[in-house]
Amino acid sequence: MQPSQRATDSFLEARLEMVGAQLQRRGIRQTQVLAVMQRIPRERFVPESARPHAYEDRALGIGYGATISQPYIVALMTELLEVKPSHKVLEIGTGSGYQAAILNELAHEVYSVEIVPELAARARATLRDLGFHKVTVRSGDGYLGWPEQAPFERIIVTAAPPKIPQALVDQLGPGGRLVAPEGDSPNTQQLMILSKDSRGMVKRTASIPVVFVPMVPRSPSSNN
Ligand code: SAH
Repeated sequence: MQPSQRATDSFLEARLEMVGAQLQRRGIRQTQVLAVMQRIPRERFVPESARPHAYEDRALGIGYGATISQPYIVALMTELLEVKPSHKVLEIGTGSGYQAAILNELAHEVYSVEIVPELAARARATLRDLGFHKVTVRSGDGYLGWPEQAPFERIIVTAAPPKIPQALVDQLGPGGRLVAPEGDSPNTQQLMILSKDSRGMVKRTASIPVVFVPMVPRSPSSNN
């Protein structure tokens, strides 16, 4: 265990209980996903005042209108993403950095884009303090993806756009998989899975209804 994690050991019981009651009982089966979520100190990704609530069965506010998603939704999206150790992964919506930390443990490299500079800076510091060195966080507009690092084997979007941006689909490599909430309003969002075959044909599959913060529209200055 890293020195920075020692002080948070008092959360271990809550963490194990969360994995059992919220994840396994609801059907999360991938042992790697369960093991990683048993290990990562979620309490370190929420504001200090919210730490006692870190393992509750819900999303929590982290400031700037953003939330850290409910543990079950994080686990489900991670499972649906089918990340392998060789993969380069793009995340849109860094938020607290919690999802990025999970991806750090499953992938080869993680690139994460956050539109709120303060959140990007805080997530970067949290990830660094906890030793999640495979994640690179950039403050920018997720509608544009991260073209300099494309293609990605996996893309995960953790804010809801009305329609999955074509730039992200374009940055997905052949055989790639993208998981994203999609929908105009919080009442109509669905979790979507896009898979791209070796010829670049894209298949869309709908999963469950979800509620995410909306993906902020790209600014007019980058709208070209
Ligand atoms: N994955 C996060 C949860 C993110 S909440 C976690 O594990 O904590 C959604 C995040 O998406 C918010 O932080 C919000 O600021 C960000 N966001 C909204 N619109 C965006 C955009 N156009 N580009 C990048 N990030 C965006």
